[in-house]
Amino acid sequence: MSTAVSTSVEQIRKEFPVLHQEVNGKPLIYFDNAATAQKPKAVLDALSHYYEYDNANIHRGIHTLAERATSAYEDTRKSVGKFVNANETEEIIFTKGTTEGINLVAQAYGRKFLKDGDEIIISQLEHHSNIVPWQILADQTGAVVKIIPINEKGELLLEEYRKLLSEKTKILAVNYISNSLGTINPVKEIISLAHDAGAVTLIDAAQAAPHHPLDVQDIDCDFLAFSAHKMYGPTGVGALYGKRRLLESMDPYQGGGEMIKEVTFEKTTYNDIPYKFEAGTPNIADVVALKAAIEFIQSIGYTFIHDHEELLLNHANKVLLDIPGMTPYGQASEKASVFSFNIDGVHPFDIGMWLDAKGIAVRTGHHCTQPLMDWLRIEGTVRASMAIYNTIEELDIFAEALKDIVKKFKK
Ligand code: PMP
Repeated sequence: MSTAVSTSVEQIRKEFPVLHQEVNGKPLIYFDNAATAQKPKAVLDALSHYYEYDNANIHRGIHTLAERATSAYEDTRKSVGKFVNANETEEIIFTKGTTEGINLVAQAYGRKFLKDGDEIIISQLEHHSNIVPWQILADQTGAVVKIIPINEKGELLLEEYRKLLSEKTKILAVNYISNSLGTINPVKEIISLAHDAGAVTLIDAAQAAPHHPLDVQDIDCDFLAFSAHKMYGPTGVGALYGKRRLLESMDPYQGGGEMIKEVTFEKTTYNDIPYKFEAGTPNIADVVALKAAIEFIQSIGYTFIHDHEELLLNHANKVLLDIPGMTPYGQASEKASVFSFNIDGVHPFDIGMWLDAKGIAVRTGHHCTQPLMDWLRIEGTVRASMAIYNTIEELDIFAEALKDIVKKFKK
C-alpha cells in the first residue's frame, strides 16, 4: 500500500480491517471520521513491527534497538516536515495531538509574550480545543478573546474580522476546516491580514490533515497543529509546526528528561528545538506509525481524496436534503465532506441510537463546539463525516435508514 497508487475505493477499503464487520447484524457503515478515522493495515503493521522488533527508549541509548527506535522516530519528524512543507525538520514538535499543540503555544508563547489588554482572535466555528486554551491564557495574562462572527452558511465574516484587527491583536487562532460544519476557511487570507496587524498566527489543522494538502510556507502560518488519529494514524500523537524564530524565543512547555542540556540544582539550561518541547519519554510507537499514515495518504493523493469526498458530499446533499423535516447546518461554498443536520421532532441522540441499531456510526451532540451550537440555537446535531473509504451505496443505505426513522417517529 505504501508505494502503490490506489485508484479504486474498493481497493482502499481492503486496507481497513475494521470496516469488514457487522455491527448489530448489519455491515458497518462508519460515518464518524471527523471524530477519528479508521486505520489502514500499513499503520497497524508499523505499530506491531515497532513493538515486535525495535522497541527501546530513544535518543539516550547506544545499543542497536535504541538506535533503530531513534532513527524511526526521527524519520517520522522528517516525514511530517515534508508533509506540511516546513522549511526545517527542527520546526516539527511531537505532541499528543492538536489539543496539546494549541495548549503548548498558548502557554509557552502566549504566557511569555502577552500582557493585560492584548487581544487574541478566534472564531465562532472553533472546537473547544481552540477556545479554552486561549481563555486560560486570557485569565493568566489579562488578555481579551475576540470572536470572528459567521454567516448563516457557516462562513467567517471577513469584513467583521478586519474590524477586529488592531495593534492590540497579538494572536490569531482559527481552524482550517470546521469539524461541525465542514467549512473550509480561507486561512491564507486570514493569516496575511493578521500578519499586517503584527499578530502571530496559529492554524488548527485537525480536520484539514485528512482532506486537504498542508503547506505552512504557502499559507505562512506561524504555528499549525494536527492529530494523527484523524488522518488514518494512531491516537495519542500529533504534531505542532512552529517557525524556528518563534520556537526559539519561547519558554519550555514542560520540564523533565530530554528537554535539557544541563541540570544542576542552581541552574538548568534547555535543549535546542524541537527537543526543548518534548519532555519525557514520548509516544514512540505511535510517532513511528504516523509515518505510515502519511505514506498512506500520499499513496492515494489529495486529488483522489478530494474528488472522491466531493462526490460523496454531493451525493449526500442529493439523497438527504429532501428527507421530511431535514434541517442541514453548514452550507459553505468551500466545504469538506461533513453533513450536519437535525430532523424536526426527533432528538439527535435518538437518531444516533436508531442508526447504530442499523450498523451506522454517526456522531450526535455539540461536537465540542458549544458556542457554535449556541449561535445556531440548537443543542446539537447529527453529524455524518465521510472519509476516503466511504461509498455512494453507504449513503443510500443511510438515507433509507433516516427515512425509516422519520416514519417511526411520525407514527
Ligand atoms: N480541532 C478540531 C477542529 C477538531 O475537530 C478536533 C477533534 N475533534 C480538535 C481540534 C482536537 O483534536 P484532538 O482531540 O485530537 O486533540
